[in-house]
Amino acid sequence: MATRIADLSRSAPGREIVLGGLAVSGGVAIGPAHLIESGFEQVPEYRLEEADLPGERERFAEALAKSRRQIKKLKAKAQALPEQAAEDVGYLLDAHAAILSGSRLLRGVEARIAEERVNAEYAVQSEITAIAAQFAAMDDSYLASRIDDIREVGARLIRNLTKRQFQAFANLPEGSIVLAEEITPADTALMDPRRVAGFASALGGAQSHTAVMARSLGLPAVLGVPGLLAGVRPGQTVIVDGAAGQVIIDPTTETLSAYRIRRDLARADRKQLEALVGLPSCSRDGVTVTLSANVELPRDVQVATELNAAGVGLLRTEFMFMNRDDLPGEEEQYSILRGVVEGMAGKPVTIRTLDLGGDKIASALGGRFAEAPNPSLGLRAIRLSLKEPKLLETQLAAILRAGAHGPIRVLLPMITAIGEIRAVKAALDRTMRRLKRRRVPVPAAMPPLGAMIEVPGAALIADALAREVDFFAIGTNDLVMYTLAADRGDETVSHLYDPLHTSVLRLVQFTVEAALRARIPVSACGEIAGDPRFTALLVGLGIRDLSMAPLRLLEVKRRILTLDSVAAARRARMMLDQTDSGRIAALLDDFNEGG
Ligand code: PEP
Ligand code: MG
Repeated sequence: MATRIADLSRSAPGREIVLGGLAVSGGVAIGPAHLIESGFEQVPEYRLEEADLPGERERFAEALAKSRRQIKKLKAKAQALPEQAAEDVGYLLDAHAAILSGSRLLRGVEARIAEERVNAEYAVQSEITAIAAQFAAMDDSYLASRIDDIREVGARLIRNLTKRQFQAFANLPEGSIVLAEEITPADTALMDPRRVAGFASALGGAQSHTAVMARSLGLPAVLGVPGLLAGVRPGQTVIVDGAAGQVIIDPTTETLSAYRIRRDLARADRKQLEALVGLPSCSRDGVTVTLSANVELPRDVQVATELNAAGVGLLRTEFMFMNRDDLPGEEEQYSILRGVVEGMAGKPVTIRTLDLGGDKIASALGGRFAEAPNPSLGLRAIRLSLKEPKLLETQLAAILRAGAHGPIRVLLPMITAIGEIRAVKAALDRTMRRLKRRRVPVPAAMPPLGAMIEVPGAALIADALAREVDFFAIGTNDLVMYTLAADRGDETVSHLYDPLHTSVLRLVQFTVEAALRARIPVSACGEIAGDPRFTALLVGLGIRDLSMAPLRLLEVKRRILTLDSVAAARRARMMLDQTDSGRIAALLDDFNEGG
């Protein structure tokens, strides 16, 4: 069965395969494929005490259940492939599912945990080595292909057990295209744009944090590509067309040259945009729209200042907690935050407290939300921080100390209740007092405190929340997800994930009006804030503050320079009167085209 899959990828040179997925980060990348199918590197090995055995069995059972879920999901995606390919991939996944539902591998692993008292990942690795040795001795080509399946299943189990991130990006040849079944936000944080030209994965939704990171890095990316890994060999030339959502494997000479021209045109456009850096961000009718940067990683600060961002509208602090097995302490967080604040040289930096949970997991905190039945509705963001006061207060101490080096604001993610804000205020007061006792420099006054409005429940009580905080930041990525009950990271419901849904527009309008009445600033910092297609809508809804991936600043500024804010407000009202998303989209696109 595995050989049939191999056949699928053995195309003649230049006989291109075009695969479709979700267009998540624009641009064209052309380069050699780097496939990530790891799982066996750095398998930890340790002995267990008798008392640890039930826990270890449970851990293995969880990894097994997760692997089964993944196979099921991949199988559902494979249906979208052309008939023959769907059948081939289907066979392979059925074989994997069979191994995962009772096999010598599983029995062997369970026995090794019980009898040899070794950790589960080591037990998986040892059992595979033993099976492979036996199969090799039998000299049977059918069995030889079965061992590949067993190895693949074993690698999956180990990945799910160790929850380790792929760290193989450091030694990539320059200009590589990373292809993997799944790429986590933490993986993306490790990608160096000088080495990685673009990436694609079989799973993942268009608004997942992986997609957000890709846009921030300026890497062309396509997620949710069915059959991706079955159709490609390492080193083969691959084109990632991040705007069209296509991955082209082994392109013909004609396709290659067409894409090279497109890539060059995009570079020329970038050059033209650079001429806008020094211009004020002001609409045709004289309305200033402040453009700030979303910072995912400290390296974004340089781009933000080069492109003249007004400040940092959203500093996502999660990166400090990713790709490590321990938690960063106050000193470490302080020194990183101070670097960002100093890097912005007097421009305000909005530091968001930790937003872990959902698709952003830190292994050091893994146990807190490992098996949440519904991670996005679970112990995410401010909920986790309030449940772990030490985690929160360590972070607040680092933030307040960074505030001694330049203007900062504190932003709270996923607020749903007034009590959460009050609890943070109490923690801020406690932390400030503690820092003063320690005689470390802190800001003269408590920095402004803001709430992310990214849950419909928060938007609907925006007037009450506005009395508690100094500013709002509307997080449309989550607001769309929670309003429409469509997971931003799940490609199977991406057709329902619609920022132009009337309900979303009404919630944004409601929030903006509450903020205006309370005279507090309100910004938008979800992905649509960095998409020029939505600029007129957001300005039309009354938002004068947009925060986005630094690389999007100039495109949005270009749109603002040609915008009439009164006409935009009129068009936004027209859009709010509609209930059909298609009609709303047409009204927006027509307006953007000057209609
Ligand atoms: C949002 O939800 O729109 C947002 C900006 O936060 P994040 O994408 O980090 O969840
Ligand atoms: Mg959010």
